[in-house]
Amino acid sequence: MHLADLQTPALVVDAESLEANLAAMAARWPGETLRPHVKAHKTTALAARQEAHGAVGFTCATIREVEGMAAAGLGRDLLLANEVLDTRRLGRVVADGARVTVAVDSPETIAAAAAGGVREVLIDVNVGMPRCGCRPEEAGALAARARTAGLTVRGVMGYEGHLQAWPDPEERARLTDEAMTRLRAAHAEVGGDVISGGGTGTSACNPWVTEMQAGSYALMDSTYTAAGVGYAQALHVLGTVVHVSPARPDMPAYAVADVGLKALGMDHGNPTIPGAQVWFCSDEHVTFAPDDPVRVGDRVLVVPAHVDPTVAYHERMHLVADEEVLETWSVDLRGW
Ligand code: PLP
Ligand code: MN
Repeated sequence: MHLADLQTPALVVDAESLEANLAAMAARWPGETLRPHVKAHKTTALAARQEAHGAVGFTCATIREVEGMAAAGLGRDLLLANEVLDTRRLGRVVADGARVTVAVDSPETIAAAAAGGVREVLIDVNVGMPRCGCRPEEAGALAARARTAGLTVRGVMGYEGHLQAWPDPEERARLTDEAMTRLRAAHAEVGGDVISGGGTGTSACNPWVTEMQAGSYALMDSTYTAAGVGYAQALHVLGTVVHVSPARPDMPAYAVADVGLKALGMDHGNPTIPGAQVWFCSDEHVTFAPDDPVRVGDRVLVVPAHVDPTVAYHERMHLVADEEVLETWSVDLRGW
């Protein structure tokens, strides 16, 4: 199959850029030190490539991701880096033989883990982003409570999400050190082998974690590229030009393609189109001013501003080399 044969909008992944990204991150974080976050691609076929590059464990954001990874034979060491109260489905995955560790940060989430049949936990510590995670000084008591509940406490996790796209890399490194000081203080109270955290944006400036949870690096987005994170843009949304409007006295020339906000995560802003200025997106359209004229029927490659929600809108992604579609992968970890 050829790129021209694909119905649009379609997720396309450049095979060479993907391989380069996987190899580069695996070189920095080899083997068990990389726990790739699958929420960024939601695709077990891509996770299998990460495993081929040496990853042993994976990070998940949802119960569905844990189930799907285990069902795909990728359940050697799954971390649900998220708080969950209804843990029965996780218990079934454990009973079926996968290794599942879940983040806990409260008496309620500890009780839920124990009741649902999960055996291993990490104490989730807030390292500065107002989301989940206990205060560092609460971590020791929570670990004791988890052990009393019969759970194995493998260590701590703390995600410095607010620092990932910090524009100045030196400041990002300094703030990451500060955030990880909180996590290490918690770890001193909790014990265990695992200090889990990090993301694509801090993967080059966070030497403090024992395992790196980066996810976006595989496919990338324009937010990370703008922040100077040096991975290749492997993911595009392929679109078709459905309308062109020549320059008029009251309006410069523009074109419209069929990649709207229902095919793109827009929480980080507009997508970019190389060789064009994007004006705006509506449900099923992107309106842009191309540097060189385009015609109705031309194909365009749109770069999403945020990879994770973009992928979650699509049922499949196509691995391509030049103009050829090598493989089509199901985005099989979607849903909850
Ligand atoms: N760890 C956790 C807990 C996250 O929520 C995320 C993403 O938001 C990541 C790791 C991965 O970060 P990134 O996709 O920026 O590499
Ligand atoms: Mn993201």
